[in-house]
Amino acid sequence: MAEISYGTFISRALQLRCPRCGVGPLFKNFITMHDRCPHCSLKYERAPGYFLGSIYLNYGFMAISTTVAYMALHYGAEISNPRLAPFLLVYCLLMPLILFRYARSWWLAMDCYCDPIGFGRHENPDPNGSSNEDPSK
Ligand SMILES: [Zn+2]
Repeated sequence: MAEISYGTFISRALQLRCPRCGVGPLFKNFITMHDRCPHCSLKYERAPGYFLGSIYLNYGFMAISTTVAYMALHYGAEISNPRLAPFLLVYCLLMPLILFRYARSWWLAMDCYCDPIGFGRHENPDPNGSSNEDPSK
């Protein structure tokens, strides 16, 4: 795999594109992911439970953003807790659903960046062992 900068990986993650080629979409629809990149055949889910780590990313972002929002709105804007609680509850219920695709994409991009050789081990779907240089297959 050619050297790809971390910024490129993050850019592709934000666009919900394959971290390796930047062309293939990660998702078939809002929820369902492709098994492999439709363009370069990169296997997205490397092992069962692979995307469990993305839940930690999503949770971490939610915990930090909710804390920052609470601090800013309660102590900065002096909004009372009873008025703030419904807003933060809705935020905490909806944002993980909205962000789960980006958390998976970010997780995949970070893993592909940190372990590009590991991704090479899973890139060939052809059981005959032919090379993966032709992405049209
Ligand atoms: Zn790809």
